[in-house]
Amino acid sequence: MRDAMKAFREEARRLDRADPLKRFRRRFAVPRGTIYLDGNSLGLLSRDAERSLVKALRSWRVLAIRGWLEADPPWFTLAESLGARCAPLVGAESDEVVLSGTTTVNIHALVNTFYRPEGKRTKIVADELAFPTDAYALKSVLKLRGLDPAEHLVLIPSRDGLTLDEGEIVRHFARTTALVFLPSVLYRSGQLLDLEFLTARARESGIPIGFDCSHSVGAVPHAFDRWGVDFALWCSYKYLNGGPGATAFLYVNRKHHGKEPALAGWFGSAKQRQFDMSLDFTPAPDAGRWQISSPSILSAAPLVGSLGIFEEAGLAAVRAKSLRMTQFLIEMTDALLASEPCGFGVGTPREPARRGGHVALIHAEAMRIAEALRARGVVPDFRPPDIVRVAPVALTNTYGELCALVGHLREIVDRREYERFPAERRAIS
Ligand SMILES: *Cc1c(COP(=O)(O)O)cnc(C)c1O
Repeated sequence: MRDAMKAFREEARRLDRADPLKRFRRRFAVPRGTIYLDGNSLGLLSRDAERSLVKALRSWRVLAIRGWLEADPPWFTLAESLGARCAPLVGAESDEVVLSGTTTVNIHALVNTFYRPEGKRTKIVADELAFPTDAYALKSVLKLRGLDPAEHLVLIPSRDGLTLDEGEIVRHFARTTALVFLPSVLYRSGQLLDLEFLTARARESGIPIGFDCSHSVGAVPHAFDRWGVDFALWCSYKYLNGGPGATAFLYVNRKHHGKEPALAGWFGSAKQRQFDMSLDFTPAPDAGRWQISSPSILSAAPLVGSLGIFEEAGLAAVRAKSLRMTQFLIEMTDALLASEPCGFGVGTPREPARRGGHVALIHAEAMRIAEALRARGVVPDFRPPDIVRVAPVALTNTYGELCALVGHLREIVDRREYERFPAERRAIS
């Protein structure tokens, strides 16, 4: 066992030395004395993001109202300009992505737009492993139309409580399906769904399909246009490092730019008409029409710097390192943490094409093990009932940190150190 650990440590040193992205870590604020493995819940602050935020504050101080047109970049078109810069990360044209609102509000804005029940076609297909807010939003969409979610929301079951089978999902696409709405990466297990396959099948059946990509954008490349995805949305505070509660993004395929936004607001106006102050809405000719309110400039400003890092690093390199890191962690878990008395399992698919950016380590004592890790300065998170979630982020983590994590986990379990922690869950885990 000790030899195996030593071999992994040597390999980690080799991989860290040869890492083409290693220069980026220095640009991020890694909390002092910690191994931060929670970038899939809240990405770290970069110097670049800090600078662009400070610059926005200065514009407010110096320019006040003039900042809408004279700030750099101008606030009035910030949603569109950041959308255009985020578009390559999802395989979209610049007019198909816009910064707007929050993830959950964007679910409401787009699902309400694309959900058009007619005759027997009334059902929304989603999944039983959905992130809770997604399920809450879908149920409220149905209730607002006077439809009972028990009847009209179809939740694809999971056989193992961790993953979904795409074959099983498409078997639920039926003549009664009005809309399909699924996550790209499942937030617990880290399974990456085959969005291309799902989209192709939905199109064959004439069903609009949308995705919540909160857990994939910035870690996994997408090709929304090539696949023909109808709409998507994602948050920007996870892998995109936009800051807590940062303004989110949405995507609408060009073929739908004529649709009427279900939740209209004045910031969805055609730019040159917005200040006509007419009571008749003239929507923007692109995805911008799904905006609702004035953009939260201070919550968007960090993205000006943060997206620059992705432009510099290249998403392909980010994905390659992310896959190598999750692979390395899975190999170490199998070799050093799986056998009794440790007893860790891996809940994440092992095929690279089915993996997002994080790894789910399964253990009956997961909650207290996560606490014990935090007490040792390692930051993972816990997802009930039994998952320690670990996200090795390509721009900020090292292979050496993954070795250290595994060393900590062995000691915590060997010494039953987790027993010192209470069995009640904290408000945020
Ligand atoms: C993080 C996440 C959200 C967050 O929703 P907010 O409206 O930003 O709070 C929603 N859905 C999924 C799948 C997520 O991973």
